[in-house]
Formats: sequence, structure tokens, C-alpha cells
Amino acid sequence: MNLTAESHRIPLSDGNSIPLLGLGTYADPQKTPKGSCQEAVKIAIDAGYRHIDGAFVYFNEHEVGQAIREKIAEGKIKREDIFYCGKLWNTCHPPELVRPTLEKTLKILQLDYVDLYIIELPMAFKPGDALYPKDENGKFIYHETDLCATWEALEACKDAGLAKSIGVSNFNRRQLEMIMNKPGLKYKPVSNQVECHPYFTQPKLLEFCRQHDIVIVGYSPLGTSRDESWVNVSSPPLLKDPVLNAIGKKYNKTAAQIALRFNVQRGVVVIPKSFNPQRIRENFQIFDFSLTEKEMKEIEALNKNVRYVELLM
Ligand code: NAP
Repeated sequence: MNLTAESHRIPLSDGNSIPLLGLGTYADPQKTPKGSCQEAVKIAIDAGYRHIDGAFVYFNEHEVGQAIREKIAEGKIKREDIFYCGKLWNTCHPPELVRPTLEKTLKILQLDYVDLYIIELPMAFKPGDALYPKDENGKFIYHETDLCATWEALEACKDAGLAKSIGVSNFNRRQLEMIMNKPGLKYKPVSNQVECHPYFTQPKLLEFCRQHDIVIVGYSPLGTSRDESWVNVSSPPLLKDPVLNAIGKKYNKTAAQIALRFNVQRGVVVIPKSFNPQRIRENFQIFDFSLTEKEMKEIEALNKNVRYVELLM
């Protein structure tokens, strides 16, 4: 694949396209100063990012929207230059909740549409104000819903122009097949956002998605923030890996840049999160070199098949 900073987008099955590199925006709201997400998005846009990955449950969508609107007002970008991905949370799977939930997100963002709207997880929680509803024993309260009906509600959002493209996240092959084999399917998922990096390369899912024209968007492409409250830290830190660091030395790049380049070079979109100006810029500098076939194979061989994000719920 020939990638340049100017043309680093890949086509989606519905005729749209997605930038191969996006800015992840999840940061623990308790530990992150207000305004840092907004500042990060503005720095990212100045650095050349056009893809921002967000979600209602990150509690900072208002900052993302504000940053995008400020950059539009400055004349730096137009709305159509930006690719924003929003997510449908687990408590909002019942079909009648889907459009109002997306409309709420658009109100928070103060934008007219999202470029991609995805079902964040394939399982549902009890609808209501509690985003993580639990019973008196501290167990999550799940909710029986039909993923195909949820999908139809997403299709209606695309038809209404509220989402340019629709997709899923954390879906396995069986769940993807369930949607794709749904009688009367109008649009298939254009993408599946899943954990993907050199220690969790997803070879089987990647092959399946390639065959069905579904783009894989790799989350935690740098191996997460290693926050023990939700990350399995028994898997070693990705960025300390000797192979990634040795290859980085050859190209005068960091292990982070090698990990990101590895994925984009095999057609996997990456959405590294950084709120640090220097690292935001660093993560974008991956389009001016390429890895050899041998190096790609060496990195593929690092796969440990262990997730950092176990999603135990
Ligand atoms: P990540 O992008 O793999 O790693 C983020 C961590 O790496 C942060 O601590 C960041 O700190 C640090 N970092 C960033 N650039 C670096 C560099 N060049 N060198 C060294 N450290 C660097 O992890 P993630 O946040 O888990 O995943 C990325 C995004 O994917 C999320 O923000 C979110 O948008 C999405 N996501 C989606 C799901 C889902 O279920 N769909 C799940 C998880 C994540 P600084 O900010 O200080 O730079």
C-alpha cells in the first residue's frame, strides 16, 4: 500500500473513506484536567489529523465539538475535512433509543452529523440514567435486546443523514455474521473497532473483515495507558518491546511510531490517544517511511494473543 501524508485514507464499503490515523480521546475524567481534550484535538488538527475517535461515555464530547468548531471558525478546516466517530453506549440498544441517543451526541458536539456511528459493544445494559447499572450484589444488569433491531435503527440514522457511515465495535465474527445475514439488510457495517497492536494482531478477524470489506479500526494501538482499573497489566508494556525499539532505531523513529506504522501499512486504521502536544505530533509522523516485508513479519511474530482490554463485563 502506498501511503503518503496527503492521501492516508482508505475506502469504506459505502463509498465514503476513513483516515488511517485518528486521535483517540478516552482519558479518565477523574484524572484529566478539564479542557485538555479540547486542547489536544486542536493541536491534532493543526498537526494534520482529520479523524477523531470519541464517545458519549468518555464525557468529553463537548470538548471535541468545541475544538472542531473553533478550527472551522479559524478557517483551518471545513466540517467535511473532519471524520468524527461517535459510539452508541450499552444502555441505549433498544431501537427506539438509538436516534434520540445520536441526536443527544450531536447536540453535545454541536454538529449536524457524525461521520461514523458505531455500536460500542455487542451486549446491552438495562436502559436508564445509570450508564453502568448494577444490582445490590454489584453485578451488572444486562438487558435482552436484538442486535439486528439495533442495527436497523442505525441504518435509519444513516438514511436520515445523522451518520454518514455506520459500523460496530468489539464484535466477533459470529456477531458480524449475524448482522450481515440479517434478512433485509440495507447497509453492512463499514468497520469494526477492536483492540489491535503488535501484541494482539487479530489475524483471523482481520482476514474475515478483509474478505467482507469491513475496515478494522485498531484501538489501544500503543498498548493502552496501563491504567490498572481497566487494563490487564500482566501483559508487558508494548512500547518497551526490544524488536519495536530496534526497528525504530533503524528509521530514527520511536517504538510508538513503529507500532502505528505496522498497523496502517497492513490497512488497519489506528486511533492512538495522546493529550501531550509532542506525542500527538510524534504519532502523526508515520507516513514518511515504510517497513520492509521482513520487518512486518518480525512484528507480526510478536503477537501474544493476549488482550490489554479484557472487557470483563
Ligand atoms: P493507546 O492509544 O494505545 O495508548 C494511550 C497511552 O499512550 C496514553 O497513556 C498516552 O499518554 C500514551 N502515549 C500516546 N502517544 C505516545 C507515544 N508516542 N509514546 C509514548 N506514550 C504515548 O490507548 P487507548 O487510549 O486505550 O486507545 C486509544 C483510543 O481507542 C481511545 O482513546 C479510544 O478513543 C479508543 N478505544 C476504544 C475502545 C472501544 O471499546 N471501542 C476501547 C479502548 C479504547 P499521553 O496522553 O500522556 O501521551
